[in-house]
Amino acid sequence: MTAQHPAPDRPVPDSAPIAFLDLPAQQARLGDAVRRRVDAVMAHCRFVMGPEVAELERALAAYSGAAECVGVSSGTDAIQIVMMAEGIGPGDAVFLPAFTYTATAEVPLLLGATPVFVDVDPRTFQIDPDSLRARIADIRAAGRLRPRAIIGVDLFGQPAPWPALRTIAAHEGLFLMDDCAQSFGGALSGRKLGREATATTLSFFPSKPLGAYGDGGAILTDDPDRAELYRSLRTHGEGRTRYEVLRTGMNGRLDTLQAAVLLAKLEGFDAELARREAIARAYDAGLAGHVAIPARVPDSASAWAVYAVLTEDTPAREALQARLQGRGVPSAIYYPRPLHLQPAYQAHHDGARLPVAEDLASRILALPIHPELTDGEVARVIAAVQGQG
Ligand SMILES: *Cc1c(COP(=O)(O)O)cnc(C)c1O
Repeated sequence: MTAQHPAPDRPVPDSAPIAFLDLPAQQARLGDAVRRRVDAVMAHCRFVMGPEVAELERALAAYSGAAECVGVSSGTDAIQIVMMAEGIGPGDAVFLPAFTYTATAEVPLLLGATPVFVDVDPRTFQIDPDSLRARIADIRAAGRLRPRAIIGVDLFGQPAPWPALRTIAAHEGLFLMDDCAQSFGGALSGRKLGREATATTLSFFPSKPLGAYGDGGAILTDDPDRAELYRSLRTHGEGRTRYEVLRTGMNGRLDTLQAAVLLAKLEGFDAELARREAIARAYDAGLAGHVAIPARVPDSASAWAVYAVLTEDTPAREALQARLQGRGVPSAIYYPRPLHLQPAYQAHHDGARLPVAEDLASRILALPIHPELTDGEVARVIAAVQGQG
């Protein structure tokens, strides 16, 4: 049974609005394969921890090269389980980039720990190792919190600067986690993401490169003891038998139905990644000189969850967004506000300025990049950004 690959030459009327995320087109392409997998679950009725969960865990471990994979209920719960396993809690500082999705920061707070926001690189948008060193020094000097962990985020499909993060974590004695929610399928130095840190968390939210049809997530690790702890924590802290409770855990299991959907989608995942890369290259070629195109992290491959350009300033971004909208081209702002300036987090922030994150938030704009885009639609996006046609 071969996966249905993207069809960039299929006819789409020029006047049709372009979708930012095209789940109906994805359904038309993959629906039959997904339904076969879902029907199998409907037949065996093991909706919680059915055989598809273990099958998906094996497939994701094989894909990433990690020794262990633990399927969980979402990317956020994956982060929470990893942090709980390290015993992170009140008085602990968890360092993470200010320019990321809110989920990365909310988990430390839910556990009573404090997120410490770090600035990012102005070209790659990834966490900046120099800022990380400075923020760790700030926290040690203030003496109020105990530095415990670093969460590196692979933002927009590209890898964080892992060699530098590993050096800092080892030198400072900190636990290192990879929030790879946006970037599964990406690679660094020829190696798929999933083994850059002690634990790597994935999200299968429908808009991520490998998306389910609902919530889902996973944790990758090479450490069998941690994997066992993650399995216990995702099922109420259970021990060898269901009614032996070893620790406070949670209900954090991956649904069998979502595992079934993901098994069907994993078959065509590499073809989707190749299509995203081709679209990114077409954008690079067509948009350079009109807006600042995204810099590539050296020696890496992106999963292209997001293709983000930079305009000169906020008014230029507003003008571009309006022009795109007028031509049926959607765009989105990731992220309009860095986390240290969000109402929910401001009170936990020590007041440090993080100028790069603040500047990016004021002029970044994401263009549609998904495998269902046709060549004609890609050309329309480029013409609309150029202001032509
Ligand atoms: C989406 C996302 C998450 C959360 O994943 P969910 O599955 O939606 O809980 C965490 N971190 C980052 C960087 C994300 O983009």
